Amino acid sequence: MRILITGGAGFIGSHLCDRLLADGHQVIAMDNLSTGSVDNIAHLSGHERFHFIKHDVTNYIFIEGPLDAVFHLASLPSPVDYLNLPIQTLKVGALGTHKTLGLALEKQARFLLASTSEVYGDPLVHPQPEDYWGNVNPVGPRGVYDESKRFAEALTMAYHKYHNVDTRIVRIFNTYGPRMRMDDGRVVPNFICQALRGEPLTVYDEGKRTRSFCYVSDLVEGMVRLLHSDEVEPVNLGNPAEMTILDFAHRVLALTGSSSEIAFVHPTDARTKDDPKVRCPDISKAQRVLGWEPQVPLEEGLRQTIAYFRERV
Ligand code: UDP
Repeated sequence: MRILITGGAGFIGSHLCDRLLADGHQVIAMDNLSTGSVDNIAHLSGHERFHFIKHDVTNYIFIEGPLDAVFHLASLPSPVDYLNLPIQTLKVGALGTHKTLGLALEKQARFLLASTSEVYGDPLVHPQPEDYWGNVNPVGPRGVYDESKRFAEALTMAYHKYHNVDTRIVRIFNTYGPRMRMDDGRVVPNFICQALRGEPLTVYDEGKRTRSFCYVSDLVEGMVRLLHSDEVEPVNLGNPAEMTILDFAHRVLALTGSSSEIAFVHPTDARTKDDPKVRCPDISKAQRVLGWEPQVPLEEGLRQTIAYFRERV
């Protein structure tokens, strides 16, 4: 297959490039490098089936020749990034999804949208199944990301219904692994880098909020299976092993062997406003329709991620 990955120089996008190349496909990675980095794909330069295009997907996209599939991952998924770049976040979810769907229609390509667990907002149903409609504050700080993805889902379904584009929607829950940006502000790089530097781990509020963390190779496997399935409705992909952020901090300390302290901090900026109190995927649909569930235990995935950051800290 000849496959386009928008956001191909990002954390998840670059791992998807690796996987699809290993499967024998031709891969075109597109990225405007606003938060993605050429470092993530430098090892692919010169690969005969790999091609990189620097382009902002909110502008018209031209690709020469046929395309069999489009993975639309371009986005600003870190709270720190979408708080800094709120308009760009809305534009890439809305205009970028419009452009990539238009391209898929033109090329008769299958289209997979990378959506998010943030469509569930601060959830009132727990764990979150796909048929939960969510609890999102459209005018809160997270609204720019959440609503851009909700709009992207609606647009994807509209192209499916009215233009017969063959579409897929994955709702990605917290994912971690090598190639996360050290400064992307999320809890995994923050805690690991703080632990490796001997700095206090910044646990927001009381650390009672919960998340569950999926290793990137598990996520990529699920995304590939979803592309090849015939499931048009959204599918959750994530690891259902839920824990509190305080518990997660202790695990990072244990695995890094760090003597860092835990610092309970209370951000006064928008970082923790509307921060979901709990989050955990109901993955029964992915198990049923894709035969998928995570394989990499947290300890193993964290070891790989810590090794990656250790080289860079
Ligand atoms: N968090 C924290 N300390 C940090 C960064 C994040 O306690 O240095 C918390 C954050 O408030 C949230 C959770 O960790 O409750 C996960 O945050 P992250 O930004 O990784 O992703 P989110 O799931 O909120 O999109």
